[in-house]
This record gives sequence, structure tokens and C-alpha cells, in this order.
Amino acid sequence: MPRATLITNIGELVTNDEQAGREGGPLGIIRDAAVLFDDGLVTWVGPAADAPAQTAGVELLDAGGRAVIPGFVDSHTHLVFGGDRAEEFAARMAGDRYEAGGIRSTVAATRAATDDELRARLAGFVAELHAQGTTTFEIKSGYGLSVADEERLVRLAREVTQEVTFLGAHVVPFEFREDPRFDGDQAAAGDAYVDVVIGEMLAACAPHSRWVDAFCERGAFTAEQSRRVLEAGAAAGLGVRVHGNQLGEGEGVHLAVELGAASVDHCTFLSDADVSALASSDTVATLLPGVEFSTRQPYPDARRLIDAGVTVALASDCNPGSSFTSSMPFCIAVAVRDMGMTPAEALWASTAGGALALRRDDVGSIRPGLRADLVELDAPSHLHLAYRPGVPLVRRVWAAGAPVVGRPAAT
Ligand SMILES: [Zn+2]
Repeated sequence: MPRATLITNIGELVTNDEQAGREGGPLGIIRDAAVLFDDGLVTWVGPAADAPAQTAGVELLDAGGRAVIPGFVDSHTHLVFGGDRAEEFAARMAGDRYEAGGIRSTVAATRAATDDELRARLAGFVAELHAQGTTTFEIKSGYGLSVADEERLVRLAREVTQEVTFLGAHVVPFEFREDPRFDGDQAAAGDAYVDVVIGEMLAACAPHSRWVDAFCERGAFTAEQSRRVLEAGAAAGLGVRVHGNQLGEGEGVHLAVELGAASVDHCTFLSDADVSALASSDTVATLLPGVEFSTRQPYPDARRLIDAGVTVALASDCNPGSSFTSSMPFCIAVAVRDMGMTPAEALWASTAGGALALRRDDVGSIRPGLRADLVELDAPSHLHLAYRPGVPLVRRVWAAGAPVVGRPAAT
């Protein structure tokens, strides 16, 4: 069990607790602060001068005036897969077009990989996430696309996170697209595949999953097909999330709001009706700047969403095709530079916003009773996350009170 720890001499502590902050604003910033945590949970937060008297057995750490922020909550990744698609990325950067459905090679490599190969890959990604300050992360299936392979992917994902999403409805697999029974009729092939997704595949995957998701987009699944998948998942006890409005305006947002989804992800192309539907719902709009970066598409307009009152989260969408970054600091830098977010809004969206997108109330903020997920930055302020893009600023990380990055001993 992690020991009781007091981190003191924190130059700037971001709590995401408006009540705790001395300067106003959602980040709840406390200067010259201290945090005490024990048994994996935060037990005290406040000015260092008011910190509880030091007792024996409490490890004392000095942050040296640096900033401490909540661990990032990455609410959207696809981390169980084989192979990579670096050549496809290079071709796209040389002018080729990105289209949904280019995942066939990843499906083949994933199916060919053994459980242990996928496990080793996952362990590497978890270390990579921690090293960049991410302490809570969601993982989707979606590169198996058969009953046995999808079951394998959610089962393996469940070994490293409780936030597992069944995404059998990622794309229609080539066995269906090219089945002579459908004679090239893609709608019929999609319908037949959805029958499998909501039947045997859902039954095999639901026990390992918390969420169901569908890729509601031209070239993937129609609104009607997506609705069948999401309603079946909800009936099996899973929470709903949606991939929508990535490549053009469509029905993804409307469907997500109607079904009470926790989050609709991408939201790159939105009508005014989409924005107002989101603003009057509990559905979070999760923006994935790594995708637009890696596919050279226009970025979503975060400013428009925030000004309309929509709750916005940022996530990496880490996957081998359209966004092979696992870095939340990178997403923050892009969101600030190109999506109209302030550094404070981008940090909030990457922590508290991600927690809301996963309907979690135990992570995403630093306050008594919550999980002790903390990141010490090698910087005096959270502003440096966007101000110093590409610089490795994560110095030490604690996940549920346990040091996972950096030296746990005194500075
Ligand atoms: Zn995705």
C-alpha cells in the first residue's frame, strides 16, 4: 500500500476545485500549496503554511516551487492492436487522402498477434501514458471485428484499465464487405455484420466492458445501424459513447444526445442544431486534436462549443491509423494554438473534462476523498504545457498515491 505522503512547496497547485481556489476560475489554483495523501486518496489540500503538522511515517516531498496538476484523464484510445501504419502516414503527408476504413492492415496484424504480444504492447503503452502524466485511460476494442477477436481485445484491455469500451462497430470487416452473398451491396453487408455485433459479439464482450461505442460516419455505420448497436449495448448494461461528426456533418451528435451518451467524440463538423443539442444535454463533446493533426484536416472549433455552454473534453484517440500520439500535453498545445482554447480550458478539458466524459467522480481533480493522481511538472505553471510544446515537462507522477514516474524520494 502506498505510504502517506505530504508534497509541499508546490508553487502552483491546480485542483479543479473552484471552492479551493483563491483566484477564481475552474482550475481552483492555490499558490505555495501542499497536498497530503494516504492509502491512495487525497486527504488534505491547501496553502503549505496551513499543512497538517508533520507526523512520523509521513514521507515529505519538496516540489521546489514547481506546478502540480491532476493526472490526465484520456477518455478515448484504441491501444490494443498489432503492427503500425507509419508508411500510410508518410503517404498521407505526401498528399494521399485519409478515408475511414483504412484499418484493414491493423485488423490483420491484430488478429495475427498472440495474447502475450498484445499484452507486451499494452504494457509499453501504459508506461508511455504514465510518463506523459496520464493516470486514467479508456481503451476501445475494434481491431478484432470477429466474435473471438473482439472478446480477446476487451479482455486484454480489462487487464490494464476498468474503462473498457466495446467497439465492434468500428468498421464493417472485409469478410462481410466482400462476401458474394451481398453482391457489393454495402448496406446489406453492414446490416448483416451489425446482426453479429449485437448478438454473439456483444454477449461475449459485455462482461469485460463498461461502455459500448459505434463509429457513426459515412464509410462506417449509418445512424440506424449505430442506433441498433448502441441500444443493444445499453440493454446489456453498458454506458453509451459515440464516434461522430469526424469527416462531415452527420447524425452522430444527434444520436448521442438522444441516447444520453456520456460522450460524443470528434465533433469536428457540427451544425448549429448539433451545438445547441449538446449544450442542453449531459453529453460531453470530446475533441481529438491528434486526429486532425495526423490527417491534416480542419480542427474542431472548441471556442464555439465552450461559448455555447457545451462541456468539452480533450483526448488522444491514440490509434495506429489516424492519431498515433498518446500525449495529452501535445493535445493541449494544439487545442490552445489552433482550436481557440485558453491554456486553462485545455488543461481542465484534459483532466476534469475527461473524468466527466467517463462519468467518473473520483479522478480529474485534486481534492480530499478523490484518488491521489498527481503530476509534478518541471515548470512553475500549467501555462508551460502549451507554451513549451514538445518539451517533456512531466517530472513525477503518482497514480492512486503510488509513484509511477520519477524518483519518489526527496528532490
Ligand atoms: Zn477513436
